[in-house]
Amino acid sequence: MNLVLLGAPGAGKGTVAQELVAEFGVAHISTGDLLRAAVKGGTELGIQAKKYMDAGELVPDQLAIDLVKEPLAADDAQQGFILDGFPRNTAQAVTLDSELSAMGREIDCALLVDVAPEVIIDRLSSRRTCRACGYTGTAADATCPKCAGEMYQRDDDNEATVRNRLDVYEKSTSPLVDYYRGQGLLKSVNGDQARETVYGGVKEALGL
Ligand code: ADP
Ligand code: ZN
Repeated sequence: MNLVLLGAPGAGKGTVAQELVAEFGVAHISTGDLLRAAVKGGTELGIQAKKYMDAGELVPDQLAIDLVKEPLAADDAQQGFILDGFPRNTAQAVTLDSELSAMGREIDCALLVDVAPEVIIDRLSSRRTCRACGYTGTAADATCPKCAGEMYQRDDDNEATVRNRLDVYEKSTSPLVDYYRGQGLLKSVNGDQARETVYGGVKEALGL
């Protein structure tokens, strides 16, 4: 399984990825998670990235590309990987194709988790994330239902930044749906359903 997850912010890509990783043991490569770790660690990359992230803009392509190269080449990605949050525009997708082909590998599916923009705004403003394990929940979760860790609201899950992230998605990322459709790799699942139902749809779409 060499999978690219597509979908607007808050569509549920991270949740789908966590479930696939738990069941199939593939590597989860989330550029958002990698960037947040860099910000938290106060690295040079993190300092550079933070201003873009807080504004809901994409970080520069080269930065995102440098970030995924190592995990893609790592041992645990050789049996398969899920890219979550990358590629985010056509330039990143083209670079990904050439990086993979240099390794004798390729994407075998791009899965769109499809959710309407109206639903997204509500979801993201009530979204809470576990500091310890990354579980994605809602404001109703006092502590993490998985590990009892502390739930927090991401800096970029406020309404103004959410609106900009959606604009950026429409403009830069949504063209990738056609990009992968053109390669015959696109599959799609309705993300506006209960968590378990979405995951059922994912497995069906992937033939798992
Ligand atoms: P979401 O999908 O919920 O918007 P992510 O966690 O995937 O959130 O990304 C958070 C932020 O990290 C983005 O708004 C952007 O600033 C940055 N980012 C993540 N992945 C990329 C990427 N591939 N290219 C450029 N910026 C990225
Ligand atoms: Zn947790």
